[in-house]
Amino acid sequence: MSDDDFIIPAGPAARRSRQARVRWGSHVVTIGGDAPVRVQSMTNTDTVDVIETAIQVKELARAGSELVRITVNTPEAAQAVPHIREQLDRMGVDVPLVGDFHYNGHRLLTEFPACAEALSKYRINPGNVGKGDKRDRQFAQMVEVAAKHDKVVRIGVNWGSLDQELLAQMMDDNGRLAEPHEPQQIMYRAIVTSALASAKRAEEIGLRGEQIILSCKMSGVQDLVTVYRALAKRCDYALHLGLTEAGMGTKGTVASTAALALLLQEGIGDTIRVSLTPQPGEARTQEVVVALEILQSLGLRSFNPSVTACPGCGRTTSTTFQELAKQIDDYLRAQMPVWKAKYPGVETMKVAVMGCIVNGPGESKHADIGISLPGTGEAPAAPVFIDGEKALTLRGEGIAREFQTLVENYIEKRFGAAA
Ligand code: SF4
Repeated sequence: MSDDDFIIPAGPAARRSRQARVRWGSHVVTIGGDAPVRVQSMTNTDTVDVIETAIQVKELARAGSELVRITVNTPEAAQAVPHIREQLDRMGVDVPLVGDFHYNGHRLLTEFPACAEALSKYRINPGNVGKGDKRDRQFAQMVEVAAKHDKVVRIGVNWGSLDQELLAQMMDDNGRLAEPHEPQQIMYRAIVTSALASAKRAEEIGLRGEQIILSCKMSGVQDLVTVYRALAKRCDYALHLGLTEAGMGTKGTVASTAALALLLQEGIGDTIRVSLTPQPGEARTQEVVVALEILQSLGLRSFNPSVTACPGCGRTTSTTFQELAKQIDDYLRAQMPVWKAKYPGVETMKVAVMGCIVNGPGESKHADIGISLPGTGEAPAAPVFIDGEKALTLRGEGIAREFQTLVENYIEKRFGAAA
């Protein structure tokens, strides 16, 4: 065996992009450059409903979203935007708002300057800004507003709304080649070309490169990876990543994770969004939870203390350890909005909740604090390990409550002000 097989991974590669600064008031979210990969999300409320939208933005921000996008599709929605901003400011939520524009963005941004000002960033889809000679004029109008208000723009190409004139032109050109490329390759090329040509045009109109973020969203994992690798090679703009129309539940979560993990590991991607279709009754914040988990699992960022729990097996016939693992996980997440400020560094803590003696003590020793519950037939005792040492043994009915108290005490001692 060669030692080369055991090199400690350096972590994801770094692609150094230009850094965009998205602002609201004194709050600045840096994207790209040496900034951490940012998490974005999007509301699904009717933007005209100011209160409902502001509440959902607040929930998404509280869950960990660092920018929140809202639909701006009608004059009424554009009129509502400054009121949503005011409502958020009243609630003490300073998360920057991103306006999502299609078809009529040029009119809405020019006719409603208060909307243009209240938004911190505009998303422009070059495939949906108009056709023929109107396209360039309307795109220019939006970019001019962004330059005037000093806003960041995401030029967001989506393969479902790719500029059809550009695609048709490129397909025709390809057809005339002696050895034409596969149509799929031309589509990839058209997507990247649309993004890069629009960015170049935006710079010619007056945006700085640091005000531009690019995205090229696709709904297939391999398609997305191919397109972003090509895009990353050809520019140094900050890149927003996301698998569009990822789908529901497990499928959407796994597909997004697979796509984003592959690219992030290569250093590609400065902001991410997980586009999950909420299942009936599921909170919109689930897309933020998944995005945070992707970044934390890759070791790119820490948001919440991690709970290591074994999957359980025939050695655990009760659900005690599953319940305790969930209870601790839920409790830690619920406390984080307060703990973030009170206990700096607590997000890096590792907690283990294990089901029996086979791996329980070993895994618990590797955690900051861990408990090894008794498996079927084992003595009804649960050793607790703190900083790798066995600290005490819990017994009886109150194990869950007592372990939670031990976790709280550990946090206070290690991450509290006096620590
Ligand atoms: S730690 Fe014990 S209960 Fe958990 S999976 Fe391993 S053998 Fe099964």
